[in-house]
Amino acid sequence: MKDKSFCIANWKMYLNNIESINFIKKFIKYDFSLNNNCEIVICPSFTSIPLLIDLIDSNNITLGSQDVSNREKGAFTGEISSTMLEELNCKWSIVGHSERRQLLGESNDMIAEKLKLLYNKSLIKPIFCIGETLDEVQANKTQYILESQIESAMTDLNFNSGKDLLIAYEPVWAIGTGVSADIDTIYKNIKIIKDFIKKFDTKNCNIYLLYGGSVNKDNASEIYSLDEVSGFLIGSVSTDPENFYSIYKQF
Ligand code: PEP
Repeated sequence: MKDKSFCIANWKMYLNNIESINFIKKFIKYDFSLNNNCEIVICPSFTSIPLLIDLIDSNNITLGSQDVSNREKGAFTGEISSTMLEELNCKWSIVGHSERRQLLGESNDMIAEKLKLLYNKSLIKPIFCIGETLDEVQANKTQYILESQIESAMTDLNFNSGKDLLIAYEPVWAIGTGVSADIDTIYKNIKIIKDFIKKFDTKNCNIYLLYGGSVNKDNASEIYSLDEVSGFLIGSVSTDPENFYSIYKQF
């Protein structure tokens, strides 16, 4: 068993309030004493977060958000700040998800601002997502892309704080396709990430590497067998309590 692992649900814009409540009511009935080293993080829609706080009564389950503003406060219509998320008992926030990079135009610079604000100034711990597109794989640019996403976002982080940081390696071409990256690709690219982050002085904090991209109950165990993989960020499969729990059981 690994010292610490993470099973993270990214519900995207799939579940409405009633569906989110129903998920939690069913999910919390499962047995989580199987693995006290595994933290389960549920990232619902912003609108559902307040409704779930009181329903979660297990120490192994925490709440996270799917995004956060790069600004602290002010005239930023539609934005949600990290302090607002703290008020909702969120312990985590996803930053730099590929859907926000690709569909909503978030740049490396904006993601770096978000990460810096979260990591250096808030109580919320980041789940920082990186990954290459299929075009970038075909152009042999995977290493360059992963390293530049890390370089841009991690350069100004204050690692003396001792705060945890999760880095989710999510190949864009594997997200939502039903086909995960193969084990050799995951191993190779996680190693690139692991080697590259050595350039930062992170000895005071814990950095955990996760994999995301079409994880399901059939491929979870093989991917989790890689020493460097401390867990998963899971999209569509995480919206079904039974499927999500069956992945957790394999940790
Ligand atoms: C994700 O959204 O981060 C993700 C990994 O999605 P899926 O599991 O659906 O591929």
